[in-house]
Amino acid sequence: MAEEGKPLVYPASEGADILHTVAPPTVLTIAGSDPSGGAGIQADLATIAAFGCHGAAAITALTVQDTRDVYGFRLADPEQLAEQAGTVLADIPVSAIKVGMLGSAGAAHAVADVLADHPDVPAVVDPVLAAEGGGSLAQADLRRALHGTLFPRATVLTPNEAEARELAGGETVPEAMADELLREGAHYVLLKGGHREAEAEIVTDRLFSFGQEEASLSHPRLPDRGYHGSGCTLSTAIACALADGRYAIDAVRTGIDFNFRALQAAYTPGRGQAVPNRMFNWRGWEA
Ligand code: PLP
Repeated sequence: MAEEGKPLVYPASEGADILHTVAPPTVLTIAGSDPSGGAGIQADLATIAAFGCHGAAAITALTVQDTRDVYGFRLADPEQLAEQAGTVLADIPVSAIKVGMLGSAGAAHAVADVLADHPDVPAVVDPVLAAEGGGSLAQADLRRALHGTLFPRATVLTPNEAEARELAGGETVPEAMADELLREGAHYVLLKGGHREAEAEIVTDRLFSFGQEEASLSHPRLPDRGYHGSGCTLSTAIACALADGRYAIDAVRTGIDFNFRALQAAYTPGRGQAVPNRMFNWRGWEA
């Protein structure tokens, strides 16, 4: 910060230098815009910045919402969505992709087609169907379309309990739900335990790959304030760790740890839910 009374002007010798830095890994998020800044693209870009990665974003939908609930959304045209993502992928070597709100079957097919041209880029797929406040974020045709499109492309699929049940044909046993989703082609399924046994003091997220449980990751349950954007933060944090070259299990562990710390530092900017503080480690003023 400028010292009081001193003009904020750098000496010519400093100011004229351009610092060429090596580009950090790029993470592309394909998700919807949340104008409240709690979830969606806004949450993803903050998370990506917190990891020191470069954030690229293809926007699937413009939602109308605040920190309480969703009141509506307008979807991007699938062809235009494919162009957004395809153009970035043709230019920048993207190290990982996060797929969040898609909204419609058309978007799922369009995104799957683009990703098919980049089979080596790991993808974290958060099968967003509704917001934490209950408002829908998907047309009815998305549920079925996710099966043949994004599930087979998911390095890590991150459903919460309700999404997993709905997408796994009504299964209720965690192992069976995970198996059902893995059968569709996802490499790993992370069953998020945030809502399970809401009275329990420990939250356990369980990571499955085909035929086995790879890890069971627990952390204390925070006082339930209802968080807006916690699923977005977690899935994007996992994508950042994958972009850093980590193996899936390590990336999931890193993502859960990051999300927990962002939730611990959460704040309530409006009249509704708390928002994870993705910048809990930020030291900008000390630069
Ligand atoms: N994507 C968008 C655009 C959203 O608006 C929301 C919730 O409002 C979500 C995803 C899911 O949010 P959460 O991280 O709370 O599950």
